Amino acid sequence: MVKENLHKVLSTIKPGVRLVAVSKFHPVEALKEAYDGGQRLFGESHVQEMVEKEAQLPKDIEWHFIGHLQTNKVKYMAPFVSLIHAVDSLKLMREIDKQAARCGRVINCLLQVHIAKEETKFGFSPEELNQMLEEGEWKELKNVRICGLMCMATNTDDECQVEKEFMYAHGIYEEIKNRYFHDDDSFKELSMGMSGDYMIAQRCGSTMIRVGTMIFGERDYAKV
Ligand SMILES: *Cc1c(COP(=O)(O)O)cnc(C)c1O
Repeated sequence: MVKENLHKVLSTIKPGVRLVAVSKFHPVEALKEAYDGGQRLFGESHVQEMVEKEAQLPKDIEWHFIGHLQTNKVKYMAPFVSLIHAVDSLKLMREIDKQAARCGRVINCLLQVHIAKEETKFGFSPEELNQMLEEGEWKELKNVRICGLMCMATNTDDECQVEKEFMYAHGIYEEIKNRYFHDDDSFKELSMGMSGDYMIAQRCGSTMIRVGTMIFGERDYAKV
């Protein structure tokens, strides 16, 4: 089923948008099926799980970390992670920089911006994001490459609300790009859209969608 689901999702994706297959809580066999269907880009949200899967699967997979990342766990993924989606503090960026340097790498990162109505402690508010970028310390972190923004919409059936939030996120993305990254071609990703809202996200300028359930089915949180 995974292959069929994958191809169904791929057939609805706009040119230029990349699909992150979110495989958290699914066994290695499910990832292999997607891999055999041509998928090379996987997203995980738990460090240990990603590290274990990485060790068992082919080396041409691009591993994206999409969950909340604690500073003390950066070191485990630093050797191989290709994009960290949810960077939400300068402290975390400093640690990524340090661990990337130890591995002789530059690690690609997205800054998570909080745009949803829901309360959460994760993500920069738009004000905090501007302030952090304005202060400029991030420019000294030579082993971190900021490639864009990541966000999540409110978990609601109200499509107008979701669209409003994604449009808002796109506006912030454009503003940040113009203000701080106008001469930096690496800043080009807007990661937004999941199984329930990726069609809306694509209409609002998403360049990367993170889809799990539609490809792999429901997650069994009791397993893995
Ligand atoms: C789990 C997760 C997804 C995928 O969600 P689905 O609804 O299963 O597509 C996307 N983004 C993040 C940050 C997630 O944690």
